[in-house]
Amino acid sequence: MKNKGTLYILSGPSGVGKGTICKQLVKKRDDLSVSVSATTRAPRQEDTDGVTYFFKTKDEFEKMIKDDKFLEWAVYNGNYYGTPVDAVNKKLDMGEDVILEIEVQGALKVMEKRPDAVSIFIAPPDEETLFVRLKNRGSETEEQIKNRLNAAKDELSKKGKYDFVVINDDLSVAVCEIENIMKNQKEKM
Ligand code: ADP
Ligand code: 5GP
Repeated sequence: MKNKGTLYILSGPSGVGKGTICKQLVKKRDDLSVSVSATTRAPRQEDTDGVTYFFKTKDEFEKMIKDDKFLEWAVYNGNYYGTPVDAVNKKLDMGEDVILEIEVQGALKVMEKRPDAVSIFIAPPDEETLFVRLKNRGSETEEQIKNRLNAAKDELSKKGKYDFVVINDDLSVAVCEIENIMKNQKEKM
């Protein structure tokens, strides 16, 4: 029987570079993908429904919670975010690896439910860099940036709970470090 795939949790504060890192990781491998989450937040210009997120109303999301459709879900800055469980399990069963790019509360829930998942915290070189990246990304208002930076302080205090901490200073170094973590994981199986 084919080995099951590995579930990776990749989290860290908003603006640290998780999305950028994930794009680079999946570009190089056919058997690695990022789970598409559901959310109630409004789509941004670069979002496509069903590709970056499944965009849901509050009622739709709450029905999915009731129907037990999520591996985990959390409220982040006033919006729901959650990982649809069926798609993740299907890929793992086919022997593919899956990345959950999720915030810290959800990550902690997955660590409890799936102790075999490999958790990686992406940290910024410093708080000022995080602020500059969020500001330069230009996708949030000043108010939303302030909220995200506030959330970041709490998120950074949880990094010790993860299997690995990777600092995203130079992007290619951070990507390479995660590829090495994944390679070592494959060798262990
Ligand atoms: P997240 O998904 O964690 O919210 P993003 O991937 O959207 O973060 O990255 C936030 C911003 O920082 C983007 O504009 C991205 O291009 C930039 N960025 C990501 N990694 C780096 C890096 N290592 N050096 C400089 N800028 C980066
Ligand atoms: P954004 O609004 O910037 O796309 O995402 C905000 C935060 O929600 C990010 O930290 C992102 O990783 C996280 N997130 C995205 N999808 C999920 C999910 O399914 N579950 C949880 N818990 N967090 C998510």
